[in-house]
Amino acid sequence: METEDLYKVLGVSKEASQEDIRRSYRKLAREHHPDANRDDPRAEERFKEIQHAYEILSNPEKRRQYDEGPRAFFGGGGPGRGTAGARVDDLSDLSDLFGGFGGLGDIFGRSTRATEASRKGQNITATVNLSFKDALNGVTTRVNVPVEEACGDCGGTGAAPGTSPRTCPECGGRGVRSRDQGFFAFSEPCVRCGGEGTIVEKPCRTCSGSGRLRKARQVTVRIPAGAKDGMKIRVPGRGSAGKRGGPAGDLNVVTRVGEHPVFKRRGDDFVVEVPVSFVEAALGAQIQVPRPGGGTVRLRLPAGTQDSKQFRVRGAGAPKARARSGERGDLIVRARLVVPKKLKRREREILEALAEERDEDVREELFKKVGS
Ligand SMILES: [Zn+2]
Ligand SMILES: [Zn+2]
Repeated sequence: METEDLYKVLGVSKEASQEDIRRSYRKLAREHHPDANRDDPRAEERFKEIQHAYEILSNPEKRRQYDEGPRAFFGGGGPGRGTAGARVDDLSDLSDLFGGFGGLGDIFGRSTRATEASRKGQNITATVNLSFKDALNGVTTRVNVPVEEACGDCGGTGAAPGTSPRTCPECGGRGVRSRDQGFFAFSEPCVRCGGEGTIVEKPCRTCSGSGRLRKARQVTVRIPAGAKDGMKIRVPGRGSAGKRGGPAGDLNVVTRVGEHPVFKRRGDDFVVEVPVSFVEAALGAQIQVPRPGGGTVRLRLPAGTQDSKQFRVRGAGAPKARARSGERGDLIVRARLVVPKKLKRREREILEALAEERDEDVREELFKKVGS
């Protein structure tokens, strides 16, 4: 079995952009959908070929492997398709094709006319990288957002200027067909028009008939003080433009916060390890501890402080990003005992005197436990 040229299957050139590939796939999938070709037994196979080609070419990594040589790509596992664990990971594309159908509301026919009405634009997720300091203090930043906007040349209709889309003859503009399934009356998207309810005969050249253009838009986003890594900030109405006058989607900004070499974040608290000399630990001491965001706090170590003992300094942590009261988390100080690597002569004498003075067996407990 010979491997077909996947580019040919999708009717695109080897240089085609991801967008070209997506567009061509949507068009072909619509044309060759088995439901639209009930009389043609070969349609299903053709549809599968198209899907398969898209699975690979829409994935930049798989596409690269494929470009480097079908042999390498298909591996030693024998010829044919169903290869390399290919799967439709771009399901959004198919559901998109059918215009967001499939909810219960559709089964019960509640929103069968949804396609004629306006539709909310896509929600977009964008990531913003923040320094430790900006996340702590809060910052107003600009985020690049890839959004879809209505094409200006055709006013978002997808039809070439001077023409207009025509009502789909298959569904009469409803965008859906009803199918009786006994108890339920099923609604399913019209395959002819892809659920749009209209058909474009002469596509607009600017947007290739999609009515939409991808654009990078800069959106100003206010990051609250104390933002955590992975926090989601919703900016309503700053996603993709709606369809047919529908509301715009939302922008979800996800924060990525760089690590700090000293302060580790734990919820709204920060943890800091602070070296403590064995004299301070034994006798007790007042020490200065660095504070996230600058400055220091004073901490009283009690006499007999053990290694790894933790102390909580209330309110010296991160501002609670979700709270309005200006509340802050705590700073957790972990004492780390430092033993001198070298001793001065005088120090050595003192410690030797101490060793004689103190007949202590620190391993007594240990051996007791071993024996029992
Ligand atoms: Zn239709
Ligand atoms: Zn256009």
